[in-house]
Amino acid sequence: MHEKENKMTPKNDKKRRQFMKQMTGLGVLGIAAAGGIWGAKDFKGSQNRLRPPGAVDKDRFLSMCIKCGQCLQVCPYDAIKLEDIDGEAGVGTAYINPLERGCYLCEAFPCVLACPTGALDHEANVIEKVHMGMAIVVNESACLALTGEAVTKEMIGHIYDHTQVISETERVARKVEIADTDSEKMVLQKTVLQKLNEREGKNCTLCADLCPFTPDASLAIGMIDKNGGLFPEIREACVGCGVCVELCPTKVLQVVPYATYADIYQKNKGASHAS
Ligand code: SF4
Ligand code: SF4
Ligand code: SF4
Repeated sequence: MHEKENKMTPKNDKKRRQFMKQMTGLGVLGIAAAGGIWGAKDFKGSQNRLRPPGAVDKDRFLSMCIKCGQCLQVCPYDAIKLEDIDGEAGVGTAYINPLERGCYLCEAFPCVLACPTGALDHEANVIEKVHMGMAIVVNESACLALTGEAVTKEMIGHIYDHTQVISETERVARKVEIADTDSEKMVLQKTVLQKLNEREGKNCTLCADLCPFTPDASLAIGMIDKNGGLFPEIREACVGCGVCVELCPTKVLQVVPYATYADIYQKNKGASHAS
């Protein structure tokens, strides 16, 4: 059961302490997160930026990331961005906005390998060592699975809009063909779109269906019965990649950067989202 993930290594312990400091600063929001009422606005500040996989703790990351953009150049999903001038701190540093594009947890973590300074820790080269944060529910009542609503073409439209590797024709027609001549990057991104297409017209369970945690995504997220419908349950193995955040049509989920399962779900068990 992915014991490695929860082992309190010095690195994880530091991340956890850093997170708790942040949570203290944010007052009651930690409890609010577990109760599903943490608003999207609370994720805008650079203090709460989701960093690429393998990122060292927040303070060291800000000093070690030299804003070279090597990680984003090798990311086949175009998940990584560089902080702009409005980012409050760490202008030019690498981050991920899961509302636009999550991290698909590439097998060899090319972003980590490309980082020349170790701001993305080179030891974090396997999924068991990557912990970016923890998914939480921020808008429970919007979940389509609760009411058994189907995924419509319009609902997945924003994913097409954020995907740069397809042609305008494909974007408009929402039909995606993988050609022999496609680059690996195109194949990977088109595969996500094809999986989305397959779920069009079906009841929404996108977050659980497309979670990239391997080898068993059900260790990270699963659908459970709730109020006569279904609802996603975030589980211990979640690494906070943000793919469920990106793909959810109704913005039910978010990721708390650097947080662990214990920080969010065990400390606030009375307010569990899954109750
Ligand atoms: S693991 Fe892959 S998808 Fe995720 S940030 Fe790195 S290169 Fe991009
Ligand atoms: S539940 Fe899966 S998709 Fe969502 S953040 Fe966790 S690992 Fe990523
Ligand atoms: S993606 Fe998940 S959280 Fe979002 S509406 Fe569908 S089932 Fe609910």
